[in-house]
Amino acid sequence: MAASLAESIVERCLLAGFAAAGVAPAAASKWGEAMRAWLAAGSHGAMEYMSRDLEVRLDPRRVLDGTRAFLVVADLYASRAGTLASNAPESGTSARGRIARYAQGRNYHDVMKRRLHALADALRIEHPGSEFRTCVDTAPILERELAVAAGIGWQAKNTMVIHPRLGSYVLLGVVATTLPLTTPAEQWTATDHCGTCTRCIEACPTGAITPYRVEASRCVSYLTIEHRDVIPVELHGEMGDWIYGCDVCQEVCPHNSPRDDGGVPYPAYSPRAAGLELLDVLNWDRAAREQAFRTSPMKRAGLAVMKRNALIVAGNVLRDRSDAALLARVKAVAADNSESDVVRRTAREVLQQLDDRS
Ligand code: SF4
Ligand code: SF4
Repeated sequence: MAASLAESIVERCLLAGFAAAGVAPAAASKWGEAMRAWLAAGSHGAMEYMSRDLEVRLDPRRVLDGTRAFLVVADLYASRAGTLASNAPESGTSARGRIARYAQGRNYHDVMKRRLHALADALRIEHPGSEFRTCVDTAPILERELAVAAGIGWQAKNTMVIHPRLGSYVLLGVVATTLPLTTPAEQWTATDHCGTCTRCIEACPTGAITPYRVEASRCVSYLTIEHRDVIPVELHGEMGDWIYGCDVCQEVCPHNSPRDDGGVPYPAYSPRAAGLELLDVLNWDRAAREQAFRTSPMKRAGLAVMKRNALIVAGNVLRDRSDAALLARVKAVAADNSESDVVRRTAREVLQQLDDRS
C-alpha cells in the first residue's frame, strides 16, 4: 500500500537525521487546566512570556492561519550508551562548572531550523499553496504536548518527553502546516512508562519535582539560565557544580540507561566542552563571552548570569577545597564596581557564606 503523505514526510525527516518524527492533529491544548494552575501557583518563576502568550499556547493552531497539522521532530543529542558517564572535572584539575548535555554541542536552534526550513521549502514547491511555519523555541506553543500527540514519547514525571527507545535526551522542533496530514494509523501510542518510579523526584537536588510538575523557581536549569536576579542563598549549595542547566533528573532516569539500540546522536551535538573554567568565566568581558558562545545555545545566558553562576559554583568548590587563585578572583569581583549589581551581590553572598563556615 502506498505511504500516506504524512508517512512519507515523517520518513523524510528521519532521512534528514531526526531521530524521531510524527504528526500531531491540529487541535486546542488539552493541558490548559494544568497550565493555568501551574501559572497561578507562580511555578513559572520569572518566565513572564509563559503567561503573556497563553491563548496561543493553549491553541497552537493560532501560530499559522489554516493550520491542519503539526509535524513534530526530535533530535537526539546524547547517546544512551554514554549518558551515565560523568562529566565532572577530575580531581586536581582547575575548578570547572558543569554544562547540561544539550548545551555542550552546537546551537540546536540553528541545527534544527536549517533542516526544517529546507524541508518546508521543498514541500512548498511540491504542494503549491500550502503554508508552513517552523517553530524551534520561536513560537509560543507547548512543544512537549505536541510531541506526545505525535506519538514521539510520553511526558514523564520530570516533565521531559521520553521516547521509549531513545530516552529523554531529545530536542523538539515543530512545523505547523496547512497541509492536510493525517496521523499514520500504525503510529506508536505514547503510553506513560514511569509507573511507580520516583527516581527523578528523589534525586532532584532542590526538590523541584512533584509528579508531572516542576517548580521552575527551584529548578537549577531555570535558575542558571532564565532567572536574571540573584539566586537565593539557600539554593547555592544545591546547585553543586552546575554552571549552565542541570541533567540530574535525566541522568537517574531508567529510560536513559544504556541500550544497544538507543540511537546515534546527530553529529552537530557532539560535545565540545563538558564544562567551563570558573576563572575564565570570572575574567570574561562581553567580547570574550560572545566569542565563547558564538555557536552555542548558551548564548541565551548573558555575561552577568554566567558570572553569577560561576561565583556560586566557585563558592561550592571553595567550601570543599582551597584554591587561592579562585578565592582571590571572587574577592576581586565583589570589589569591582564595574561588575553588575547581581554579580557583586552574589560574590559578597558567596564570601559571606565562606566566612560563616570558617
Ligand atoms: S533539571 Fe535539575 S533541578 Fe531541575 S527538576 Fe531536574 S533535577 Fe531538579
Ligand atoms: S526517573 Fe522514573 S519517574 Fe522520573 S521520569 Fe524517569 S521513569 Fe519517570
